[in-house]
Amino acid sequence: MNYKPDVIGRGYLQACLRVENRPGSPPRPEDKEEILERLDALHAAGVPAWWYSVSAKGSHPLFPSKVLPHHPDAVPGMYEWLAEEVHRRDMVLCSWEYLCTAPYLIREHPEYAMEFLQPKVPHNASEEALERARERHARAYGDVNPVPCYLSPYGDMLKEFCVEVFEDLGFDAIWFDGCFMSATNTTPGMPMGCRCPRCAAKFRADTGHEIPRVADWDDPDFRVFIKWRYAVLGDYMRSLCEHVRANSRHGLVCLNHFQRLRHATGFGCPLNPMDVDGLVTAEVDQAPYQTIMQLKYLRAISNRHGQEMWVHQQPGGPNADPDDMAYFGMLCMTGGGHMSLGLSAMPKEIVSTLSAIVERLRPRAEYVGGEPFRYAGILLSSNTKDFAFGGADDPTWRSVHGIHNILMHAHLPSEIILDEQVTLEHLETFPLVILSDVRCLSDQQAQHLSDYVEGGGLLLVTAATGILDEMGWERERGALDDFMGVVSRGPAAPMSPTVRPVGAWAHNLAPRFDLDGFRYGQPSDAFQDPLRVEFRDDVTVLAACDEEGSPPAITARSVGSGQVIFVNRDIGGFYSRTPSRQYRDVVAALILAHSEPPYTVHAMPHVAVTGWQQGDDRVVFHLLSQIHELCYLPATSGRPHLDMGSAPPSGPIRIELPRQAKRAWRPVSGGPVCLRVEDDRSTIEVDGVEQHDVLVLE
Ligand SMILES: [Zn+2]
Repeated sequence: MNYKPDVIGRGYLQACLRVENRPGSPPRPEDKEEILERLDALHAAGVPAWWYSVSAKGSHPLFPSKVLPHHPDAVPGMYEWLAEEVHRRDMVLCSWEYLCTAPYLIREHPEYAMEFLQPKVPHNASEEALERARERHARAYGDVNPVPCYLSPYGDMLKEFCVEVFEDLGFDAIWFDGCFMSATNTTPGMPMGCRCPRCAAKFRADTGHEIPRVADWDDPDFRVFIKWRYAVLGDYMRSLCEHVRANSRHGLVCLNHFQRLRHATGFGCPLNPMDVDGLVTAEVDQAPYQTIMQLKYLRAISNRHGQEMWVHQQPGGPNADPDDMAYFGMLCMTGGGHMSLGLSAMPKEIVSTLSAIVERLRPRAEYVGGEPFRYAGILLSSNTKDFAFGGADDPTWRSVHGIHNILMHAHLPSEIILDEQVTLEHLETFPLVILSDVRCLSDQQAQHLSDYVEGGGLLLVTAATGILDEMGWERERGALDDFMGVVSRGPAAPMSPTVRPVGAWAHNLAPRFDLDGFRYGQPSDAFQDPLRVEFRDDVTVLAACDEEGSPPAITARSVGSGQVIFVNRDIGGFYSRTPSRQYRDVVAALILAHSEPPYTVHAMPHVAVTGWQQGDDRVVFHLLSQIHELCYLPATSGRPHLDMGSAPPSGPIRIELPRQAKRAWRPVSGGPVCLRVEDDRSTIEVDGVEQHDVLVLE
């Protein structure tokens, strides 16, 4: 059964595939036949959940809403009819719309509109490009700024509107795109909001500062504004979900969360825990190489209702090859979530494609998610991303994605920690915490990290971690330097990349090799070379620099009952673009010499293995043979075409874990599994997977 009237989302959250195919104008009675044709095609393909729109892009309600001004041609009763038809076919119905636009409302109430900050530097697009953008914007919204402020009466009206869509029309979910606190993406330069009189008064009351006019990263008030704005948008999204839950037992709000590589900070979604009673979802923008890590930080942001990732149908058009999209679905499942799919063809043109995708995903759906094994916690710092490089977020994404990829390829389980989760209580749920060039740390975060190590935690720190405070201003001494045994950090200096590892941890490594950090050149000079660091005598040198007089490349120091390991190179940033076995081996050896993972995996590096605890007795592993393009971040912002169905052979996979398993099986493929149990350890071996498989252990 897909349609489940008694659960939140009425089956949306369990759907193995959610398909977007929606109109731009109000449906009329004479359209019923055509609408049923779409519906029947999706139904024939076995698609469990369908996105239609009660509002066209730009939040023009396409039905006679009692709450918001609506399209003049809206016909009563059409959506109620549609919801019944969808549910009759045992499917789930979701509306897609924009959170941040309401042009009809603003025509009536221009005072509700968001006001934008001026850019410090005028964007450098040509006059011709700007004119094209202005035309595009005018086509979509006329001469109106379509963006309302959430603090205006629009905020409450939208909440009531959601309840209307769930309770009166009978929809099961609403998927909000456009979760911005800025102009729409048709506006040239996409300036940030909001500095309307309501926001200015609230900003003054909340912070004691005057709201800035210009988006200037050098202005301390602007940095305060950035953090304040996250709080405002996060509070609004949370209160929207709460209002819906109070007035609709089963309606589900989904929020497209805009914090990702290639989407600048200007959108305003908080990269910190939100814990909303809704589904926090995201999209990959044709860049699936981010998918598994994206799902991890969505989980850290909010985990009440699982995770989801949207992708555009690729390749597009009729009779498209289903293999790529099914593969993307299995990639999402490996990360603990489900896929939603934006169609570029009419459903009737791709029934066999959709049905082939569903056939692959449906038997896997019940094994998705659960409690991920907690081993490494990687800090993805919003403050560092925003402030360390004056609004340029690329270096931070690279450092974090890179270290995440190293761990994935070395088969060491990881999850993401966010700035506000750097508390002793949360850190202690991870035996290992990794700070990959996390430049911005507060004194309080530093204290929690040092307490964590003192209490027995293992902390792995790289590059210029802690050299700035939480607002990105320079510190006199690095926040972690005292307890890492750092005496001083000199200027960035060119150093030989060649290192000599010292001690038992490195017995499998070469006696000398290059260990380079990411050399950026832009946007900050400090990023080009490692800092020339001086250490106290009580650190243990784990790798010396080959060059006479240069400081060690890797050190360790015992603090209390724990250890802190410091790698004075941005190895994460380096690996993000240039994966290599040497880097994996170094990081894995450093970690494994000091700590034991919850399970050990022997497999090729491109094979992603994720482990999940489902209930007390069951452990599920997802095994995915990753295509090469998923294993690194490309250097350009272009969108590479990913032939996702081209996964190389996985080779044999062996997993060992300290538990007495009674049986192990592969419920989807039915393939053979070899299980050996000795004392309290189980070893499971499979001879390989074709793209993806599920392995269950009880
Ligand atoms: Zn405002």
